[in-house]
Amino acid sequence: MEQPTTTQHTHCLRCRRPLRSPSSVARGYGAHCAAKIRRAAADLADYKPHQITSARQLIADAAIIPLRRTLFLAVSTDGSAVHRTDARGHCSCPAGLRSARCFHTAAARMLLAA
Ligand SMILES: [Zn+2]
Ligand SMILES: [Zn+2]
Repeated sequence: MEQPTTTQHTHCLRCRRPLRSPSSVARGYGAHCAAKIRRAAADLADYKPHQITSARQLIADAAIIPLRRTLFLAVSTDGSAVHRTDARGHCSCPAGLRSARCFHTAAARMLLAA
């Protein structure tokens, strides 16, 4: 499976503080924010376990970027498309457009809960 195109992040995607360590730059989040996101207790009861795993991976790859308060851009798994995702369960990916729950919205919820 191909990795999404990774960009170098100079500032934390969550708190906008400058990132210094190479691992933070690759991750897109400072150590503090990354730990918060890992601990975030979002209500994901209506998502399937594999969707939650994919959502965590999306965050770990810094493939979901905050655009506005509740709106995110999510890079598709093959890096060829960017979906607009919000935490209320709307997403422009194929699954989201069929109004099925997709893991992008799970990731958005996790980020907002952090
Ligand atoms: Zn941060
Ligand atoms: Zn989606």
